[in-house]
Formats: sequence, structure tokens, C-alpha cells
Amino acid sequence: MASKTKTARVLAVSNQKGGVGKTTTAINLGTALAAIGEKVLIVDMDPQGNASTGLGVPRETRRITIYDVIVDGRSVHDAAVPTAVPGLHIIPADADMSGVEIELSQADRRSYRLRDALARQGEDGSAGYDYVLIDCPPSLNLLTLNAMAAADGVLVPLQCEFFALEGLTQLMKTIEMVRQSLNPSLEIQGLVLTMYDRRNALSGQVAADVRAHFGEKVYEAVIPRNVRVSEAPSFGKPVLIYDLKCTGSQAYLRLAKEVVGRERRRLKSLAAA
Ligand code: ADP
Ligand code: MG
Repeated sequence: MASKTKTARVLAVSNQKGGVGKTTTAINLGTALAAIGEKVLIVDMDPQGNASTGLGVPRETRRITIYDVIVDGRSVHDAAVPTAVPGLHIIPADADMSGVEIELSQADRRSYRLRDALARQGEDGSAGYDYVLIDCPPSLNLLTLNAMAAADGVLVPLQCEFFALEGLTQLMKTIEMVRQSLNPSLEIQGLVLTMYDRRNALSGQVAADVRAHFGEKVYEAVIPRNVRVSEAPSFGKPVLIYDLKCTGSQAYLRLAKEVVGRERRRLKSLAAA
């Protein structure tokens, strides 16, 4: 199989609610996957550029951004920059992405710009990523549609609080809509419970409800609310680099192992079929 180019598993980290841990999960799951030997690309699709900042890519150095890939057809190879984490690259974002909708209003395959860019990357043999994690904006716009059209699966961070399930209904409708139009093979990769607070009964209740509803789609690994996790981005570091021993880092490592384990099982069952 040496001649076959390795194809990356592309996951959109998405939830239409803001502040649920999408960016934190993209950064730290990406770092944890790289730490256990996977080659990872994070695509920052949010004009706020929080994933880029949190991974230590200062605004003034964001020369080629996801905007250039989506609007101008720049290659993934040109846009991806290394981070301080070995094996982890990022395509940064900047506020100029807010013009994408207008720029692309007449464009061909406007929802497939990211998918096409990732596919071109495979063709020229420069791919080599095992995972591509797309950090989505909270709104349902053309950027989110590009992410979902490019993705194999959606990874959903869910904050353990009262309105968690409400936001989820919206997301499930979006995924269904994308399946019927842009990307029939889009799967729900998994749900990850974030900002879990052991001392708060509500956290436990929400976690139990989500597990009852989504069963094994919910990862065993639960990300605790941990102040080290929220401090790390202001140092431009993933929490695993900022404080490897803290509960947040350890939880993201467990999550990464689970993600890889599931992926191996999926590939095995495909091979057996
Ligand atoms: P989103 O990308 O969904 O808007 P973020 O990842 O930016 O959400 O998280 C929202 C806020 O919550 C940020 O300030 C982040 O630092 C904080 N946060 C995320 N996960 C945790 C956690 N496990 N423990 C403590 N704070 C967290
Ligand atoms: Mg975010």
C-alpha cells in the first residue's frame, strides 16, 4: 500500500453555541494527538483567530491565512505553519475572514473551497497529516458550511450546563441539512463533555442526560473545569505545554487516546467489511 497517499481524518469541531470549549478542544486535542505521535493540522476557521493566538501565532505573523486558502485558492501547504508542538501545524485565521461571504457570493463550489484545498494537498503528495481539526465559528455561515463539507466527522464539545442540549438540537439539524446537500457521508464523530464541575450536581445531571441520549457517541474522557486550561491561551500555549500535570491536560490526553482508538476500530471494521 506504499503508493497510496495517507488520507487524513478530517474533523470539524463544531457547536453553534459560543463559549462551549470548541477552540480549547481544537488546540488541546490537537496537541494531545501530536503528543502521542499523530501528525495534526488545525484549521482556524473563526475570524476571531483564537486558536491561532492560543497556539502562539501572533497576528502580525499571519501572512497567509485560511482566507487566502478559501478565497484565493492558496495551497494548504503554503498556509500551514508549524507550532511549538512537534507534529502540530496550524492554518491561522484573521479578522479579514469576515469578507468571505461577499467575496464568494458568485464563486464556483463556494461551500467546497476547503474540501478542494485539502484534496489538492493529497494529490501533490505533501499531505501526511493523520488528523485535520477545524475550529469552527459559532454561527452557521459559509465558513461553517465549508468546514462541514470538508469533514468526515463532527466533533461536538458540550459544556456541562443547563442549555447544553438546546444548542445541540440546532447542531443536529445543521448536520442533517449538510448530509442532505453538501456532504452525505458526514458523521457525528463524537461528543465531548467540557468544563465539567464535579462539585456541581447540574454538571452530573447534564452528563447523564447526554449519555442517555447519545450513548457511546459520548467519549468516556470528560474535560474538567480547570483554571490552568483557561490560563494557558494568554501565554500562547496549549495547556499540555503550560502545565502537563494538571487535570485538564491529562483529560485531553485521555480524549486523544480514545479518538485514536475509535479511529483504529473504524478502519479495522472497514477493512473487514
Ligand atoms: P468556544 O470556542 O466554543 O467559543 P472556548 O474554547 O473559547 O469556547 O472556551 C470559552 C471559554 O471557556 C474560554 O475562556 C476558555 O478559556 C474557557 N474554558 C474552556 N474550557 C475550559 C476548561 N476545561 N476549564 C476552564 N475554562 C475553560
Ligand atoms: Mg472558539
